[in-house]
Amino acid sequence: DIAALADLLNSRIRDVPDYPKPGVLFKDIAPLLADAEAFGALTRALAERAKELGATKVVGLEARGFVLAAPAAFAAGLGFVPIRKKGKLPGEVFQKSYDLEYGSATLEVQCDAFEPGEPVLVVDDVLATGGTIGASLDLVQQAGARLVGVVVLMELGFLDGRERLTPHLGGAPLDTL
Ligand code: AMP
Repeated sequence: DIAALADLLNSRIRDVPDYPKPGVLFKDIAPLLADAEAFGALTRALAERAKELGATKVVGLEARGFVLAAPAAFAAGLGFVPIRKKGKLPGEVFQKSYDLEYGSATLEVQCDAFEPGEPVLVVDDVLATGGTIGASLDLVQQAGARLVGVVVLMELGFLDGRERLTPHLGGAPLDTL
């Protein structure tokens, strides 16, 4: 069940204080990925959600989102699409820039990544301020796909990312495992 899954996942996430800079409590998923039982349970939960929502593609956000989304897509029998940092994808791309605490970042998706109106699930590891997922949802929409849901492993509730994302979700559900 969902509570047992949350306990298992929580037990395999390591809190690293002051990384990558003072004052940040970094959520390290390496122990979870290294544990076959936890990684398998996470992958199956993501795959099940993708199928429930009727997605035909699972979108992963560079870089840790790839590690979660790609095996889930495989397990669900679906395709995988990467959203990458600027300058990594060949050919025509859509771009979206968003603000970071200091400066800004740009994400890209290939223009031909989706069929028109194709139902997609977006997956990432941590929802913090929501900037990364918000920009990614705008790209999914720009590329002509239809968002059916977002799943993250963890949500840092005190940063209000969920509220910031609401306008980008178009009514699609946002789940935290
Ligand atoms: P944001 O755009 O603020 O929601 O930040 C989300 C991205 O930054 C995610 O892709 C996470 O991988 C990473 N991130 C932000 N805060 C943390 C944290 N405390 N621990 C681990 N990763 C984080």
